[in-house]
Amino acid sequence: MDPSSSRTDDWQFRRRRSRLVESLRRKGIVDERVLAAIERVPRHVFVDPALLSRAYHDEALPIGLNQTISQPFTVAYQTMLLDVRPGDRVLEIGTGSGYQAAILCELGAEVYSVERLKPLLERARHLLKRLGYRVTTRHGDGSCGWAAFAPYDGIIVTAGAREVPEVLLQQLRLPDEHHRGGRLVIPIGDAESQTMNLIIRRGEDDFERHEMDGFRFVPLIREE
Ligand code: SAH
Repeated sequence: MDPSSSRTDDWQFRRRRSRLVESLRRKGIVDERVLAAIERVPRHVFVDPALLSRAYHDEALPIGLNQTISQPFTVAYQTMLLDVRPGDRVLEIGTGSGYQAAILCELGAEVYSVERLKPLLERARHLLKRLGYRVTTRHGDGSCGWAAFAPYDGIIVTAGAREVPEVLLQQLRLPDEHHRGGRLVIPIGDAESQTMNLIIRRGEDDFERHEMDGFRFVPLIREE
């Protein structure tokens, strides 16, 4: 296939994307804003050109260096839990392909994203820029968050963690009369499987925790 065709968002891709959105709806994604964002972001541009035909299947795909672009259902599910409002400041840990960051931009978030693998970060950065998404990125270990831009209305971790990194909790926004408390969406478990966790900051040391469905992510690597 002509490589340039992966850059254009022609009707074929749009039609496949609509079908993906319909399948996500059937699988229980009820947040129309999230579905609309998925309808707009050209996922095929974020996947390896060799896998173009599978870009709109509901599956995770390899993006090199043993990492994956998350399954669309997972992206939709995590984004739904994050409940992004326009203008929210959101930190993503694990930029990977950049796809999830683009979805957050579509929802009107001010997006910060950290990735530990430089080649992936560089690729994602260029791609996001080319598509017109404004994302502030950093190369490094995201398990300590990104204190410089804290507090965040939302933190989304796109790799599976053993436990909740305490520092991430501290970087969530405290609720006040103008703001909701920050929300952390993070898969927690062992190498085999994780459950999605939603943690909402209710006060200085007050965190409300919900444990949701099971998933399988690539691991969050913590540098000692
Ligand atoms: N959100 C991505 C999914 C990426 S997979 C997307 O939309 O494509 C998870 C990513 O987390 C991988 O790229 C991996 O390198 C990265 N990662 C793992 N541990 C990390 C850490 N401690 N800090 C930053 N990134 C990390």
